[in-house]
Amino acid sequence: MREQIIQLAKKCDADVVGFAPASRFDKDDAIFKILPNAKTVIGLGFRILRGIFRGVEEGTTYYQYTTMGVENLEETVMPMALLRVSNLIEGEGYLAVPQRINPLILNEDGTTNPEVDYTDVYHGVKAENQIDFLDCAVKCGLGERSKINSLLNDEFGPFIRYCFIITDMELEQTPLMEKHLCDNCGECIKACPGRAIGANGKTDTWRCAVYYNGANGSKNPFMPPEAFATFDHDKKMQIINGQAEFNSEEAKEILDNIYFYPPAKHFYRTSICGRACDRACYMHLEKKGVLTRKFNRPFREKQDWKLSTEQFENFGKDKE
Ligand code: SF4
Ligand code: SF4
Repeated sequence: MREQIIQLAKKCDADVVGFAPASRFDKDDAIFKILPNAKTVIGLGFRILRGIFRGVEEGTTYYQYTTMGVENLEETVMPMALLRVSNLIEGEGYLAVPQRINPLILNEDGTTNPEVDYTDVYHGVKAENQIDFLDCAVKCGLGERSKINSLLNDEFGPFIRYCFIITDMELEQTPLMEKHLCDNCGECIKACPGRAIGANGKTDTWRCAVYYNGANGSKNPFMPPEAFATFDHDKKMQIINGQAEFNSEEAKEILDNIYFYPPAKHFYRTSICGRACDRACYMHLEKKGVLTRKFNRPFREKQDWKLSTEQFENFGKDKE
């Protein structure tokens, strides 16, 4: 049955399949609140195509990552794979409970999810009743937890998304992955255009949301000169240079003023930072030669680009 599950999941475009026995979870883990008789958690990992980041790398088109790397995977590919593998399991007389991330439900109060509109985020569900997706991925052997709480996989580095099935079927376990990819290099922290990740690796989700959505003018080819014109000039330039200090209420105000990219018609926000943290991590792992999937050419072949912010500095000066 294990082999059949792997084969079917791979037919449904999963790249990595792992099995965590219930014994790897604490007795009060959410998996037992969802399925008290859980015996196995099956993890399915899906690569985010490397080519999806080309538009961001070149500073040209930005929707590929959001439409294909986030929305399509989360809303089409992964649910189909979950359903088909779950049907196989239930066909054998066992229960299968598919688990995909609901991007609007957050476990930690006072946080947001940069991938969605902050006004849609919901904190009302008790954290202990939801599975911890990253923890499950690690326990299923899909990869290791990095310094910044991303999942790192041997083949795809941080370019991977994942979902799960909790089942009462006993299946042979996948070994846990020994930590060997993340070396605390800090490249991910340095690459963020908004200093959203602290030296300890913790992400300020509001800073992340602001800069994920494109508030840094030197990394946003779509920002018009009048951007943030209603803000005090110094504050405006600090925002645009990625240096501003702000709390969550101010972050909301900044987010309400980000309107630069062709309007997102999708549920997910367009990533203007292009997940710079993950790209930097990927390049670091690629340079070290530790990723098992090799490409003919390096991920980045020329100097990273940076735009001038002079037009924001000068905006409105002719009227003074
Ligand atoms: S690079 Fe982007 S996704 Fe990563 S922490 Fe910074 S703003 Fe968030
Ligand atoms: S760039 Fe990657 S390897 Fe380096 S500290 Fe960040 S997560 Fe770890």
